[in-house]
Amino acid sequence: MAFDMHTHSRFSDGTTSAAEVVESAAQAGLLGVALTDHDTTAGWDPAEAAAAEHGIALIRGMELSTVSEDGIAVHVLSYLHDPTNIELLAEVAKSRNARYTRAKRMAELLSQDYPITWDLVKQQTTVEATIGRPHLADALVKVGAVPNRSAAFDSILRGGSKYYVPHYAPDPVLGVELIRAAGGVPVFAHPAAKVRGRAVSEQVFHDMLAAGLAGVEIDHRDNSGSGKAWLRQFAEEHNLLVTGSSDYHGAGKPNQLGENTTPRHVVEAIEAQATSDFKVLWNGN
Ligand code: AMP
Ligand code: ZN
Ligand code: FE
Ligand code: FE
Repeated sequence: MAFDMHTHSRFSDGTTSAAEVVESAAQAGLLGVALTDHDTTAGWDPAEAAAAEHGIALIRGMELSTVSEDGIAVHVLSYLHDPTNIELLAEVAKSRNARYTRAKRMAELLSQDYPITWDLVKQQTTVEATIGRPHLADALVKVGAVPNRSAAFDSILRGGSKYYVPHYAPDPVLGVELIRAAGGVPVFAHPAAKVRGRAVSEQVFHDMLAAGLAGVEIDHRDNSGSGKAWLRQFAEEHNLLVTGSSDYHGAGKPNQLGENTTPRHVVEAIEAQATSDFKVLWNGN
């Protein structure tokens, strides 16, 4: 009776199609799934068709890249926003362009020590896909430098590596504001994921809260135990919605669909806050 509120397809850095993500979610026995590709909604149409076909609820979403003042990557899940909202689209376009330039620069740096070319990196992505380190990781796997993506993230591609290049993304506060203005519902993704580097300060949480943050993703494998405990208290104090999800990336990560889930009443509360025309597609569930 549960929902997985965070998944990726090939439109960003998942390894399966949007339709396959939805079909796999139905096969896993989930009542509903949110497709939340990084900085794109290109998967919404195929996901919609697959959800209708397989009788599973679909929450149309996106994982917005943002960067805090001190340079920490903050991912904000946006649910049910208007994908044609000009202001949000403009920021997303800026990040996507910056990601492209940054991937090219990282490929250049990698090519000094590994037999990596920009063409090889591009071959790891699909047209329209939001490019990121996972595609560079796939190129490194192709040339035999690492056995899989996770190994690449643990070594060559980790933040602080000499091949790492940052990229532009909006401030988290602007991200939350843009999502709300587009009628969407912003939820802070894996907020206590120390494995990804430093976590943001409490001040950033408060700033995002003031800007309209709706919830925090607590049940996620990357959140530390102590982080989860702090988040539960914070969510309670500030009346925030609490979600759980897998952050499924197909074969790109060990994360399995439904390994963490969100109860129906939370999905309904998210929908109640959405002011766009892009409501949950319940498909009879
Ligand atoms: P980037 O945003 O380009 O810096 O790349 C970071 C992204 O890589 C994160 O959003 C992760 O979801 C993604 N990623 C995909 N596969 C892995 C993996 N095996 N280990 C760590 N991160 C991964
Ligand atoms: Zn990802
Ligand atoms: Fe993320
Ligand atoms: Fe994600």
